[in-house]
Amino acid sequence: MKIAALIPLACPGMTALGTDALPDNLRRRILVCEEVHPRLGSPCWMWTGRTNRNGYGRAWHGGAEPVAHRAVYEELVGAIPTGLILDHLCRWRRCCNPGHVEPVTPRENVLRGEAILFAPAIASTITEGAQAHA
Ligand SMILES: [Zn+2]
Repeated sequence: MKIAALIPLACPGMTALGTDALPDNLRRRILVCEEVHPRLGSPCWMWTGRTNRNGYGRAWHGGAEPVAHRAVYEELVGAIPTGLILDHLCRWRRCCNPGHVEPVTPRENVLRGEAILFAPAIASTITEGAQAHA
């Protein structure tokens, strides 16, 4: 499955998430990169479960199916203000580290852009993976 092969591309080594603060249904599907993100100072938490067609993790959680990084953020940080979305500061859509996302308006998210921070080879792999999953 292409999407599983994509994860080692981002993180040469990954370990289980060592926090008990998350419910099992979320924690068991997250692997932590060994490398710390150079700008954010902490490692990405990669979602290994299902993703939606845009490449965001999908969690079965609380009787609904939110995107995984929102579910993790609400568990560990708190409610996301109505109308705001979480912008990935690390640019990895499947990353669930609450320190790697920031609540912003949809307009601000668009203005910040996304594609420019991807290495082209990685971006094309993500697109392929997302399409394979659609
Ligand atoms: Zn991240």
